[in-house]
Amino acid sequence: MLLIPSLKNKTKKIKIRTITDPEYFYIPLKSYRSEMQPVVAVGCEVKKFQLLAKSDDFFSSNIHAPVSGIISECIQIDGQNFIVLKNDFKNNELTFPADEYTQLTTQEFIQKLSNFGIEGSGGARFPTHVKYNNTFSEIDTFIINGVECEPYLSADYVLMKEQTQELMKGLQVAQYFIKAKKIVVAIEKQNKELSRVLLQISREYNLPLSIKLVKNNYPQGSEQQLIKSITGKEIKKGEIPSQHGILVNNVGTIWAIYKAFCENIPFTERLVTLSGNNNGTLGNYLIKIGTPIEHILKETQISTNNNETIVLGGAMMGKAVKSLLTPINKGSGGILLLKNQKTKSHNCISCGYCVDGCPQRLMPLEFLRASAEKNLMKLKEFDVQNCIECGACAYICPSDLPLMDAIFEGKMLLHNN
Ligand code: SF4
Ligand code: SF4
Repeated sequence: MLLIPSLKNKTKKIKIRTITDPEYFYIPLKSYRSEMQPVVAVGCEVKKFQLLAKSDDFFSSNIHAPVSGIISECIQIDGQNFIVLKNDFKNNELTFPADEYTQLTTQEFIQKLSNFGIEGSGGARFPTHVKYNNTFSEIDTFIINGVECEPYLSADYVLMKEQTQELMKGLQVAQYFIKAKKIVVAIEKQNKELSRVLLQISREYNLPLSIKLVKNNYPQGSEQQLIKSITGKEIKKGEIPSQHGILVNNVGTIWAIYKAFCENIPFTERLVTLSGNNNGTLGNYLIKIGTPIEHILKETQISTNNNETIVLGGAMMGKAVKSLLTPINKGSGGILLLKNQKTKSHNCISCGYCVDGCPQRLMPLEFLRASAEKNLMKLKEFDVQNCIECGACAYICPSDLPLMDAIFEGKMLLHNN
């Protein structure tokens, strides 16, 4: 793992901010691994929190309207499908039966996670109901992932700091069904000031909670690295953590569980860090899913120029956006404005830094050759599918080789063949 600059001080001390809602929301139809099917047609009036799209694939999560309004069109942005929702600014809400969670069976709990579109908010967007569906054998360690190891991002930090009661309530709901022997909240050493408040408030909820401070390394927040750091166990390829009595949830996911079970609100908003090499109104914003970046920049009086790249997500794992209509999705922890850096690739010098830095113990340099040669056998042999796309290899490579491009291409080649 790598020690990289944290760059979080620009935003971590700023209290949660909000922006006004846009006139148009662009609701992404892509979920974890499948394309969602709209259940509303163009011209339909919809209420806030109404179901907009779903899929028969178990590995997907429902999508709901963040506001009330009219479905104005279905469009593609940068090759992805979106429903466009025109806001009527009335916020007419759909209400759901107010179930007390203690009255639900385990299956009803899992069904509600699915119905309310709860998914991992750490970036991977794995549907939470799938994780919990594998869980009820016996969970020894319930790990709450508060390790936000990407540079710049501080949304999870402020969530733990300012929404501690809500997080504990969400945790209480999850723990009611999981009955884990212990709950471990993992935070980075650089955020150790959060320990006291988290422990203090957890006592009010009678939770078997402890805090584990982990190194400020990258990618310490990835599920496999975190499990290793906390339990010493290695999750092998093809295994799932619950086989080892472990369940991991991001703090943002626990907050979404709080919203669903304590406020009866589907996953329609999240905290997003707005940061980077820009001195506008940076900070952590509570933003509705589907809000386009264009609107967020306007609301925060941030102007952009051709010398900047706008990244959705973190600086290491996020994706550069091509259109400012690209919206926030459930996994978007940040919007970063990063100065373009002109880099020229040089030949591989076989230094092995990429191998040493890879948390998955892969050989990233081999992906360059295998992808260029479209060598499917080599891509399988060197296990490109086991890459978690953390970007550590590309970050450390002294020859600035396009390792991530090779990895994405290699995965695509295997997917299509
Ligand atoms: S090969 Fe994949 S997992 Fe390994 S460092 Fe590179 S991006 Fe990360
Ligand atoms: S870090 Fe770059 S230069 Fe060094 S072995 Fe890996 S690909 Fe080659």
